[in-house]
This record gives sequence, C-alpha cells and structure tokens, in this order.
Amino acid sequence: MKKNPKYGSQEPRIISRADHNVTRAEFSKSALKVLYRLNKAGYQAFLVGGCVRDAMLELHPKDFDVATNATPEEVKALFGNCRLIGRRFRLAHVRFGREIIEVATFRAAAISEHDDHHSDDEGRILRDNVYGSIDEDVWRRDFTCNALYYNIADFSIWDYTGGFEDVKRKRIVLIGDPEKRMREDPVRMLRAIRFAAKLDFEIDEPVIKAIDHHSHLLTNVPAARLFDEFLKLFQAGNAERTFDLLHDHGLFREIFPATDEELAKDAGFMRFTRAALQNTDRRVQDGKSVTPMFLLGVFLWLPVKKLAEIRRSEEKMSESQSLSLASYEIVAQQQRRISIPKRFTVPMREMLSLQPRFEFKRGKRAMKLLDHRRFRAAYDFMLLLAEVGLGSQETAKFWTEVQLQSAEERAQSFQIGQSPGKKKRRPRRRRRGKPAQDQ
Ligand code: ATP
Ligand code: MG
Repeated sequence: MKKNPKYGSQEPRIISRADHNVTRAEFSKSALKVLYRLNKAGYQAFLVGGCVRDAMLELHPKDFDVATNATPEEVKALFGNCRLIGRRFRLAHVRFGREIIEVATFRAAAISEHDDHHSDDEGRILRDNVYGSIDEDVWRRDFTCNALYYNIADFSIWDYTGGFEDVKRKRIVLIGDPEKRMREDPVRMLRAIRFAAKLDFEIDEPVIKAIDHHSHLLTNVPAARLFDEFLKLFQAGNAERTFDLLHDHGLFREIFPATDEELAKDAGFMRFTRAALQNTDRRVQDGKSVTPMFLLGVFLWLPVKKLAEIRRSEEKMSESQSLSLASYEIVAQQQRRISIPKRFTVPMREMLSLQPRFEFKRGKRAMKLLDHRRFRAAYDFMLLLAEVGLGSQETAKFWTEVQLQSAEERAQSFQIGQSPGKKKRRPRRRRRGKPAQDQ
C-alpha cells in the first residue's frame, strides 16, 4: 500500500519518453498549445489525471487537465482566451472554440492543521484551498492511476505513487489510507466503481473493504454533487457494468433506496432495469443522445407504480393521474439523495403518466397521443416494458405500426369515422375538458 509521506520527502519515479507509450498524438492540439506556452514562459506544465491514464491505455482521452506552478493570475496573463472560475479555489479555463482546457495550480493535500483545511465529524473535507508544489499536489488525488503527470518539457511521466505499474496491472488503488480517504470524500467510492467499469480494472482489496465500511457515508454528500456523479456513472457507455458493481458493493441502495428495495423483490423489474441500461449503453456506443430522465424513469418506475395503486385506492382518479401524483411524491423522496433538476423530473413524470394511454387504441383522443411532446420517450419506455414481458406485445406492435402509416391508414387503425354506432362516448368526452393530467 502507498504511504502518504511528509511533504516533499519523496522523489518521483521519472519514466522517460523511451520507456512509456504515451504519444502526443493522443492529446488535443489545444492542450499541447497551453502546455508549450506555459513551459516557454518558464513554468512547469504537466497533463495530469484521466488524460494521461487514458492515453496509456490508448483510450483516446477527450478532456485534458493541465497542472502548473503558475498561479491562476499568471496563467491569465499568458492567454487572451482565458477565464478564471471558482471563488474558493480558482481555476483557469483556456478556450479554443468549443474546447476548454482546464489549468489548475498545484494544490497542497489536507494534512497540516495550520492550513485552510476543514473537515466535518466524519472526516469529510469541506475546504482545501492552498497552493502547493507538484509533490504536494499528488497526494490529494484519489487513485494512483489518476496521479500520473506528463511533463511537456521532455515528454516524461512523473509517478509518485506507483500509478504507472497500477495502470499496467489494471488496478484501482487508493493513494494513502483507504479508510481515511473514503471518509474524506465518500464520492471516491463511486469514482472507484466508475473507473473499474470504464477501464475494466480490478478494485484493490483494501479499497473494497473501505467501501464496505463506509457506503452509508454517501448520504452525507450534497445531493447536487451526486447528480453530477450520476450522469458520469450512467451516461459514459458502461452503465450496465457500473450498475452491477454499484449493486454488488452496496452503493446502489445508498443512492436509489426505493429502487433497490423493489429490485430485490421483483425479477421482472430487474430485467426491465437491465434492458434499459443495455439500451443506454448501445445508444452511447452508437453516438446517439441519451437523456438522464429516461433511466431515472426506469429506476423509479416500480416505486411510482406501487404508490400510484395506493393513491388510486384512496381517492377516485384516473390511472394517469395517479401515476403523475405518485411520481411527484417518489421524486421528492429521491431528491433527498440525488437532486434531479426540474428539466428532467417534469418530462419524466409525463413519460410515466402517459403509459396507461397506450392501452387506448380507438378514437381521436387515442390518436392524439402520437402528437404529444413526450410521445417518443413514452413509446420507447412502453416498448422496453413489452420487450421484457411486462407489457403487451400487441400494444407495442400497434404503436410501432401506426407511426409508419399514412393519415388514411391511421384513421382506419384508430377506427375514426367508421361505424357511427360506436362513436358516442360521453364519459370520455367529459374527461377531455379536465385539466391536463401531466402537470
Ligand atoms: P474522467 O475524465 O475519465 O472521468 P478523470 O480521472 O479525469 O476521469 P476527473 O473527475 O476529470 O476524473 O478529475 C480529474 C483528476 O482530479 C482525477 O484524475 C484526480 O486526480 C483528481 N480528482 C478528481 N476528483 C477527485 C476526488 N474526489 N478526490 C481526489 N482527487 C480527485
Ligand atoms: Mg477528466
């Protein structure tokens, strides 16, 4: 296990260009420009973190983090296209068209009592905002594979923690004492899972133990931060593997308690969830867009459905209305763990409460569903339910076919303007006047 030494007491292992496989072709032109200019101005300039790790694995990194001994103000002075962001800890963003290169000044780790670090009762770091040198910066990073520095001065890699070998061995190893590092920032548990899934790495045994001991600490993490992490976990193309690891290590229940409870009881719901995760991964791999509201809707579906049944037994309302009401309540509960922005919860609620409407296949109102702004998502959701045997195949087939039909064919499918005897449906008409069920 790697020890966290006193400041500056350890020399890095320097792996020269001849001894590693990281080529500049793996890095963006913009990132290289930033590095060269910093270096020319006399500063140290390194690429660090995910991009070095991914370059070693030939995974074609997409975002680039630069670390330097120049202060943010000094960085700004060098680049016209630069903005300083963050109040507590300032970072420089250098912009090249749509690409942003993040430049961070070396920071010291949370060790000294005298500096500006504060932690809560569980040991969680609340602030860390002191500039430092590279040999301080390295110890505040999470995993050894994320703590490699690529030096633009001679294209060597600086390794203080054994990360170079750990990448080769495909292992997720925490820097320092795993128990302490997980308490400092419980999000590292999710990050361990995320990297293991993305990189197909093994998680080191002490890290697994620390996760077992501290999974409950995730409830202390601000809900807004967990939403950002949720996106990274489930929209990077490895959602299914990530889900399995989270589930196996008892972390899924910490972020989706209601879902976890239903998954344990209901094999059909597990099949549905898995199908949705596979679907998401396929879309990401095909370069298609994915919205978090779809997967959130899947995760919350059974809790919502069950609560809707209860609400319906208490008060007279349509199935759609009960689903809308229940999703409002379930989302409110879920927000305590992960804060989901309204721009996702509102469409998700619509998607779920539209589900019963697929059962109606006759008449103009049924046909109007095709024009609903949430039709596409609701349809995909319904298809998935049918695919895993939780919905009607016949209904899925009907709605798939009508989308391909001409106006006349469609009118026929929905039996519009056919046998006049069937036309009168007074109760349905009355309901149409009511306010929309979705909001
Ligand atoms: P990717 O971009 O593929 O998600 P990454 O390793 O670049 O992976 P980022 O979240 O972009 O991850 O963070 C950049 C670097 O910052 C990490 O490689 C790591 O060194 C450090 N880091 C990020 N989050 C933490 C954390 N919670 N604790 C300690 N170090 C962290
Ligand atoms: Mg990154």
